[in-house]
Amino acid sequence: MIIVMKRNATDAQVDRVVEWIESVGYRAHLSRGTEKTIIGAVGDARGREQIKSVGHLPGVESVVPILKPYKLASREFREQDTVVRVGPLGIGDGTFTVMAGPCAVETEEQLMECAYVAKKAGAHILRGGAFKPRTSPYSFQGLEEAGLKLLKKVRERTGLPVVTEVVNPADVDLVEAYADILQIGARNVQNFALLKRVGQARKPVLLKRGMMTTIEELLMSAEYILSEGNPDVILCERGIRTFETATRNTLDLSAVVVLKQLSHLPVIVDPSHAAGHWKYVAPLARAAVAVGADGIIVEVHPEPEKAVSDGMQSLKPEKFYQLMEDIGILEGAMRQMRANS
Ligand code: PEP
Ligand code: MN
Repeated sequence: MIIVMKRNATDAQVDRVVEWIESVGYRAHLSRGTEKTIIGAVGDARGREQIKSVGHLPGVESVVPILKPYKLASREFREQDTVVRVGPLGIGDGTFTVMAGPCAVETEEQLMECAYVAKKAGAHILRGGAFKPRTSPYSFQGLEEAGLKLLKKVRERTGLPVVTEVVNPADVDLVEAYADILQIGARNVQNFALLKRVGQARKPVLLKRGMMTTIEELLMSAEYILSEGNPDVILCERGIRTFETATRNTLDLSAVVVLKQLSHLPVIVDPSHAAGHWKYVAPLARAAVAVGADGIIVEVHPEPEKAVSDGMQSLKPEKFYQLMEDIGILEGAMRQMRANS
């Protein structure tokens, strides 16, 4: 349910509506637009009848049901694009954000080198996993807190904000203390306990689509985070499982277009985990710019052949510099295209 307040509604009237929503067991989510204040009321079916009478309160212009199963993530709830702020960066503000770095944090030297390459290339955010959700229990599981400490050290030295994965609800406070963005990996896209926990965090969340997740399911997962009070969710298309085996996953670029229509949340693309091979990464990254994504997250490693995970799909620094130049050209073309339309 969306409650649209009248243009001249007072703060006291807004407060009264919020109180009413909460008194029938719903949660109120305020969205103050430039024109009007909109209040999203979400809850389960039990309060459905009572909530409708909120329309009689002073200051209310209209009460509109949201027909989609996801509410706060929908365009109906919020017409303007959400911009996720990370320091001076605005993810979803029309610029193209590049997150780059190794699959896993391995050593201080490796991470420092990656950060140096990322910065020199003009990337905005350093990626690197300290907790690695591996398919095999015998694969490297990450440096855990020691890896987070390295991320912090490198962030302090380079000024690059960091995105890193959290796999366990019990570790959210710990990861939040070190990271600028909390990553939820493809395998945890429907780990609802984890989603609720990061929904209570005060850092933005990068939510990756699972390899078997529909677009609607991804938006429902985003809803778990939003409904806990965290408005800063970045969606990520990283390839889905299909009959095709030539690539690790099949990059579903149409998901970017669909998500941007259905939702106000920023959408980025991970060409590395989609492709599975470095040879395919740059063309897919360029396609992400052209399809209108808000950015990419890409794996870069100074010595991919020595990487402890995902070396095969990691770009060498030289390839990454070239990609960043290409992205710059495409961004210019996109800007021109928007200006002409
Ligand atoms: C990763 O980003 O290194 C990762 C494990 O990605 P995904 O969860 O998309 O497989
Ligand atoms: Mn990886």
